[in-house]
Amino acid sequence: MPDNDDSWAAMLAAVRRFHEKHDFRATGGEELTHRVALMAEELGELSACVTKGTNREQLGEELADLLILVMGTDIAADLDLRKAFWTKMERLMQRESRVIDGRIRVSEFRDVD
Ligand SMILES: [Mg+2]
Repeated sequence: MPDNDDSWAAMLAAVRRFHEKHDFRATGGEELTHRVALMAEELGELSACVTKGTNREQLGEELADLLILVMGTDIAADLDLRKAFWTKMERLMQRESRVIDGRIRVSEFRDVD
């Protein structure tokens, strides 16, 4: 782990090195449809961990798989996910919450009249 292992820049650089190692850009690894499919696959693995009661270490690994794919998609699509994250967090913090069917939701509720 690098010294500043909690920094977004260090994490993104590590994912970028992974992409470069396997030349994802030239081999279809950065194609967005492929990436969405991979993220769905990892979400399925994460879901299985929860529904099958797998241990926390495995759950963390699957979550890391998904995060790495999300960060890689940031690279593939040439976005600025760090900026998008903070912009969205600011908006989320302004939203209201409601308990629906016993579970809380935070959303822009549009009531139907
Ligand atoms: Mg996985």
